[in-house]
Amino acid sequence: NLQILLKRRPVGAPVPEDFEIVETTTPEPAEGQVLVRARFLSLDPYMRGRMADVKSYAKPVALGAVMEGQTAGEVVASRHPDFKAGDIVLGGYGWQRFSVVGPERLFKVPAGSLPLSTSLGVLGMPGLTAWTGLEDIGQPKVGETVVVSAASGAVGQVVGQIAKIRGCKVVGIAGGQKKCDFVVKELGFDACLDHHGDLDAQLDAAAPEGIDVYWENVGGKVQAAVFPRFRDFGRMVMCGMIAQYNEAPGADAAGAPVGPNLGPVVRKRLRIQGFIVSDSGWSRYGTFRAEMEGWIAAGRLRWREDVVDGLRNAPGAFIGLLKGDNFGKLVVRVD
Ligand code: NDP
Repeated sequence: NLQILLKRRPVGAPVPEDFEIVETTTPEPAEGQVLVRARFLSLDPYMRGRMADVKSYAKPVALGAVMEGQTAGEVVASRHPDFKAGDIVLGGYGWQRFSVVGPERLFKVPAGSLPLSTSLGVLGMPGLTAWTGLEDIGQPKVGETVVVSAASGAVGQVVGQIAKIRGCKVVGIAGGQKKCDFVVKELGFDACLDHHGDLDAQLDAAAPEGIDVYWENVGGKVQAAVFPRFRDFGRMVMCGMIAQYNEAPGADAAGAPVGPNLGPVVRKRLRIQGFIVSDSGWSRYGTFRAEMEGWIAAGRLRWREDVVDGLRNAPGAFIGLLKGDNFGKLVVRVD
């Protein structure tokens, strides 16, 4: 088995030396378990959190353990009655070629589906994140203005397109002209703003009416620019703050953490709510997948993937993800 382990906990941005690549023996499934050979590994921002030894909604990866991650691949051996060798599945575990998993989070991918990698992106965890977060928290209504950060990425591209389907005006925020062109011309957002430029001026021009829903993927200076522009009864969907994952929390001179002035939350009756896709997302996976496949078949939903070849290249690709090097949902094709 080829595995990538967490060798040490990063300080600031991860570097290749934080990982270790090892060859080990292929595991055997125990009673009730399934052996999966990964074809694709999903790389996601949450993995930066798992590398740190801090209290969170999920336990950190132990030093020397295989890096956490979700794979899609093929069942090669099964000791569970619902799965057999040859089944194509979503739900293998970790940055490794072979994994032994239980049935709890293992989904059979139906024959004739879209390419398997989509089960890690538009039809997988990031798509599910967008779908549940909009349904539960954002609740966009016809004619409202929705702003989405990291708009060309795995979650952002789905958020914006669903908001368009719901009849909203959608403004993306992304890093650079190429990503912005894709978001407007390929995905059909109404506008896309480059966060390397003057965001205040761009937001005033693109959404002079103000913002009803802000989908937060980034934090930092993007959040600071969007926050004062909410309309009354706006909703802020707290999905992630990737710009802050490598940093210690900002602090004032006395060492107290600093953030935006939350006064407008009262004045404008805003709702700010965080969520984790695993709270209730996977129990709704079937409904989600059916609705998404319907939109895709009708030509209303598109996606873009950034496919990196070779499991050994996963650490480098992940390091790049935290700097915006990926263009679309980042997946590794496992050799
Ligand atoms: P993306 O595919 O969007 O990739 C990450 C993108 O973030 C980069 O391409 C880059 O885009 C942007 N980015 C990275 N660093 C910075 C920075 N310093 N400042 C501004 N932008 C930056 O990732 P995902 O779609 O998978 O994830 C998006 C967000 O959603 C993350 O915050 C993630 O943690 C969160 N998430 C939360 C879940 C939940 O359950 N709550 C589940 C899944 C994801 P650009 O070049 O455009 O800046």
